[in-house]
Amino acid sequence: MLADTLLAEFQALLGAERARADADTLALYGSDETPKFCLPEAVLFPTSHDQVVEIVRLANRHCLPLTGRGAGSGNVGGAMPVPGSVVVSFECMQRIVEFDVANRLVVVEPGVVTDEIDRLARKHGLMYAPDPGSGAYCRIGGNLAMNAAGPRAVKYGATRDHVLGLTAVTGDGRVIHTGGRTTKYATAYDLTRLLVGSEGTLAFITQATLKLVPAPETVATLRVCYASNQSACEAVSRVMNQPTTPCALEFMDRRAIDAIREYGDGVFESAGLPPGTQAVLMVEADGNHEDVPRQIVALEKALAGPELLQIQSGFTREDTVRLWTARKSLSHAVKRIAPLKINEDVVVPVGRLANLVNAVDALAEFHRLPIVAFGHAGNGNLHVNIMVDNGDEEEMQRARACRAALVQAVIGLGGSLSGEHGIGSEKRHFVPLEVDAPTLELMRGLKHLFDPLGILNPGKKLPD
Ligand SMILES: Cc1cc2nc3c(=O)[nH]c(=O)nc-3n(C[C@H](O)[C@H](O)[C@H](O)COP(=O)(O)OP(=O)(O)OC[C@H]3O[C@@H](n4cnc5c(N)ncnc54)[C@H](O)[C@@H]3O)c2cc1C
Repeated sequence: MLADTLLAEFQALLGAERARADADTLALYGSDETPKFCLPEAVLFPTSHDQVVEIVRLANRHCLPLTGRGAGSGNVGGAMPVPGSVVVSFECMQRIVEFDVANRLVVVEPGVVTDEIDRLARKHGLMYAPDPGSGAYCRIGGNLAMNAAGPRAVKYGATRDHVLGLTAVTGDGRVIHTGGRTTKYATAYDLTRLLVGSEGTLAFITQATLKLVPAPETVATLRVCYASNQSACEAVSRVMNQPTTPCALEFMDRRAIDAIREYGDGVFESAGLPPGTQAVLMVEADGNHEDVPRQIVALEKALAGPELLQIQSGFTREDTVRLWTARKSLSHAVKRIAPLKINEDVVVPVGRLANLVNAVDALAEFHRLPIVAFGHAGNGNLHVNIMVDNGDEEEMQRARACRAALVQAVIGLGGSLSGEHGIGSEKRHFVPLEVDAPTLELMRGLKHLFDPLGILNPGKKLPD
């Protein structure tokens, strides 16, 4: 339990309302989207950079572990406290510090909700390109810590590609400023890229300068149905090997289509998917009004090939909504397959997507488990969902073995454990399979430099 005197010190710093240890608050901050739970000792709600500095310095004096938190939407246990730790929630640091149209940048505090940044940018003809599916509620600090990405990453890149500079507080309470306000920068070591994706283990980010891009005038959508996974994956390779890069290239595999057919409450038929459909690509092109139709023609040409069953295009908002109906129904349909979804967010070089999909098929057969794969095919990043009855221990054992075999298969294909969700507490035991010993040693050395007492988000990212 947190000593009363220490809680009183935090309350003196932040005010009683912003340093809480009542049972209701603790219960609310014990987990993220991971189906696991650990009660924190207290939850702190700083409202300024200076308060974060003081929190970290106080925690150092007491060797108190701190777990940073945005919206708790992560699904690898990143924001889940460890026993004895105090949660630092950034939700009250929501200021847009500066909006600079001329230089196409915005300076934000970590608690700003991601979609808010894009909404603000659009008012000025600009766009914040990273678009995680959780954008309506996740916070930019969480996105930066996880290097979050969404469908648009295939054209625009992930969060890391949109950060110009950061202000952060290291584990021993030093304030650092990385990068700057320019799109070219060759002065210091690139600590910005190091901190993005470091999952709150090196420093707390208290301010970020983000790059904005011109907003496209329009977006058009293609829904493309194939008679096999293989044909769809080959089409992905063709698309990525020609000059017109789509702004989304999403894939649903055979079992995803089966789930929609079986559990989609008629969506398969109402969405007009042809009967023999075994895989679907959702493709989008964005740009100005004159150019988008030209892009669509180029993309249609690349998508055409063996076992193509249907291409439907949409140029209006209504068309887009109609074409995405099947994809949007997928999460709901998948939930009905089994009570627990083990979601692996693996990524392979895009030319090996078909190998990954075949490996997933073989694993599903071998381990006798339903596995549904879908995701950001243009980046080779698939969400592989192993569906399992968590009340059945024998099935859970098969699922664990299947997960380990999937990781081995992905690494064998030259891929990586995580494309966007990160490592957190849930995947760190797999890290030594992918990252060699000298590199891990250097990572541990960096952790020690930034956070000598190891108080920032212990038990995450790095393996024991
Ligand atoms: C329905 C759904 C859809 C999703 N879709 C996507 C998707 O398309 N793409 C994607 O990438 N992810 C996706 N996610 C995962 C999740 O939303 C992202 O990882 C997101 O970046 C987490 O943001 P958050 O604010 O919820 O952070 P949290 O989950 O609260 O924290 C995530 C990590 O960030 C650290 N952290 C938080 N704030 C700071 C800070 N200021 N300084 C340092 N460290 C900090 C935490 O300690 C933790 O390690 C999805 C999740 C859900 C539930």
